[in-house]
Amino acid sequence: MSAAEATAETVTRDPAKAQNRDVVEGAGFSLEIGEEQREIRDWVHTFAAEVIRPAAHEWDEREETPWPVIQEAAKIGLYSLDFFAQQWLEPTGLNIPMVMEELFWGDAGIGLSIVGTTLASVAVVANGTPEQLGEWSPQMFGTPDDVKVAAFCSSEPDAGSDVGAMRTRAIYDEAKDEWVINGTKTWATNGGIADVHVVVASVDPELGTRGQASFVIPPNTDGLAQGQKFHKHGIRASHTAEVVLNNVRVPASCLLGGKEKLDERLARAREGTRSSGSGNASMATFEASRPSVGAQAVGIARAAYEVALDYAKTRVQFGRPIVENQGIAFKLADMKTSIDASRLLVWRAAWMARSGKRFESAEGSMSKLYAGETAVRVTGEAMQILGGNGYTREYPVERMARDAKIYTIFEGTSEIQRLVIARTISGHKIP
Ligand SMILES: Cc1cc2nc3c(=O)[nH]c(=O)nc-3n(C[C@H](O)[C@H](O)[C@H](O)COP(=O)(O)OP(=O)(O)OC[C@H]3O[C@@H](n4cnc5c(N)ncnc54)[C@H](O)[C@@H]3O)c2cc1C
Repeated sequence: MSAAEATAETVTRDPAKAQNRDVVEGAGFSLEIGEEQREIRDWVHTFAAEVIRPAAHEWDEREETPWPVIQEAAKIGLYSLDFFAQQWLEPTGLNIPMVMEELFWGDAGIGLSIVGTTLASVAVVANGTPEQLGEWSPQMFGTPDDVKVAAFCSSEPDAGSDVGAMRTRAIYDEAKDEWVINGTKTWATNGGIADVHVVVASVDPELGTRGQASFVIPPNTDGLAQGQKFHKHGIRASHTAEVVLNNVRVPASCLLGGKEKLDERLARAREGTRSSGSGNASMATFEASRPSVGAQAVGIARAAYEVALDYAKTRVQFGRPIVENQGIAFKLADMKTSIDASRLLVWRAAWMARSGKRFESAEGSMSKLYAGETAVRVTGEAMQILGGNGYTREYPVERMARDAKIYTIFEGTSEIQRLVIARTISGHKIP
């Protein structure tokens, strides 16, 4: 089923729920989730509890993509374009955060292996034409019998937070109606093992970020190779690697959005006109995607908190469960409070994004910042509550603490989130 068909099916599936779509036009916010949403959340939770959790330790130790788990997810329809498209299109905006939280409650490394493909597919949704969406999105996921993954490659060795410093270059070969791409990408989730790569490249370096464009690199394209695979502190089941592009040639149709639209955009940028809010448009895209990353951090934090709470109630020292010491009980109270606060920030931003609300205070960045930092704090406290056991790999909180740290680094570091929030609330240029 194509993404367009999936969209159509979702919209027409249940006419009785049609009135829910009014939310997109700005209906009220409710924390009361519907019956269908609860069913989806519980279905994902069951998969996380029965399939992901039991596999987490093994794949963390192996530091390899957990293909059998992705295949299991594909068999039940959880790893599929159809499933993710339907959750994105659900009118309240809360389904994606709920799904993310449950998957990452199961395990973050495996969770990212399952949702990593969506990074690339969202790039196609944001920048591509409906035809490109229909052509590439299904190929990114493959089929339950032949599962594929996709990669989104933006970061470079000298262009991490500073995306404008990107060196990967795409040059149009008019004679062949092809683009030729050269450069080195780094930190790409699924880089090199993906069938489809989406690569951001500079088409006019003088224009900085406004001179960049995104390209789909089809499967088995000559010149694309995996470079170094990284051995990481956490989320070790998720594959992260360099992607080297050496005279990669792709048809003109692989430029997301098409050449005509790109030429218009470049012309506006060269004239110096701030193209009718293109900066605002990309800002809105980032703000819209950040809550789903925040939700992943909420899932890790909740998992560690639950382990710590159980442990504190059963571990006896000085003749009583350690939870009966205020020093431990107050930690748990603070952990639970900040997890719930994170989820509320995430849900608010997700609802705003789906409802087309303006992010007046960078609410998407706020949700990712707070949830990421909460995950680090909560997993650290969970290790403390488990004492010596928390410091071993026999108990899961040590892995969760390692996994949590990435949420202050990728998808915009905590410092960059603070920069975005500070600039938005002050209206000042903060360097
Ligand atoms: C496991 C993993 C998976 C990833 N997956 C992907 C992926 O799939 N695709 C992709 O394109 N990228 C991916 N990334 C890259 C990730 O988004 C970058 O690592 C991140 O944006 C930070 O860039 P950097 O590592 O170059 O750090 P730098 O930008 O060099 O930052 C280093 C430090 O300086 C701080 N800093 C930088 N500029 C400022 C400033 N102006 N003010 C204050 N502080 C500042 C940062 O906050 C940070 O603490 C991944 C990274 C990791 C580790």
